[in-house]
Amino acid sequence: MTANTFPSPKELILNTPLYKKIPLTDGTLHEAATDFLFFAGTYDNFCFECNEISTFQVVTKTRTPQFSKSDAKAINMSKLAEVLDSLTYAPAGTHQIEGRCARSKGHQQFFIYYVDQQATLEGEKTKLSSSIQKIGQYPAFGDSHNERIKKFQKVLPKDQMGELKRAIHLASHDVGVGSYVYLRRIFEGLIEEAHQIAAGEPTWDESAFNTLRMADKIKALKSNLPSFLTENASMYSLLSKGIHEMSEKDCLTHFEALRIAIEIILEEKLEKKERAQLLIDAKEAINMAISSTK
Ligand SMILES: [Zn+2]
Repeated sequence: MTANTFPSPKELILNTPLYKKIPLTDGTLHEAATDFLFFAGTYDNFCFECNEISTFQVVTKTRTPQFSKSDAKAINMSKLAEVLDSLTYAPAGTHQIEGRCARSKGHQQFFIYYVDQQATLEGEKTKLSSSIQKIGQYPAFGDSHNERIKKFQKVLPKDQMGELKRAIHLASHDVGVGSYVYLRRIFEGLIEEAHQIAAGEPTWDESAFNTLRMADKIKALKSNLPSFLTENASMYSLLSKGIHEMSEKDCLTHFEALRIAIEIILEEKLEKKERAQLLIDAKEAINMAISSTK
């Protein structure tokens, strides 16, 4: 998020970690936050009742004016500009976003946000500092991610499955560097798996491979690795940089991009495995059909 951009409703609902404060430093950000609090669109998420990804419709709320007539009467002219300004402020306090599954209205999800407004006196002027943060949600953050990544069990060993869950859990609790450690271990695990396959080939030169840097190892293992990984091999240096040099905040900022990249790589492995199985099954079915018609 740059200084003047506000996260999209989907980001705020699905990916923003709990208690991460988003400062509202100008009228545009206040307006964007207010629009979000009255968001009436849809988002896709894992539904625990349907046990699969579903579309959720956010329940519409009436947007009420924040000032009453009696408030207006009490305002003297010199205060008018201040009040007009404050009309654009996101309403302080707690707000609920309720999503209902498209398959059944009874499948509900809740997200709670808090808009904090602190007024401080700076000389003669009152300075207002505001922020919005997510303070609660049901189902718990991470649970829906865990359900969504369950399918990778087919292509990830149990230990690495645990590491992927831990990476997502840590990032959702604002632990940036720690989450990178687990993502990097998964990445290294994928390389090692391809290495073991390649090492079985008759022309393989193990001692030469061991002297290579990661980028060259990836090149050497290209035919045994998912194409997204070989095309985006530089994500390994970003993971390493995160662990050794980047701040917690920078790690968290780029976590989503890296998580998605890792999941694309796993999707590719999964598709390859499922396709191989499909071919075996189809071959078997053809053979059975042929022998039954003999
Ligand atoms: Zn549902």
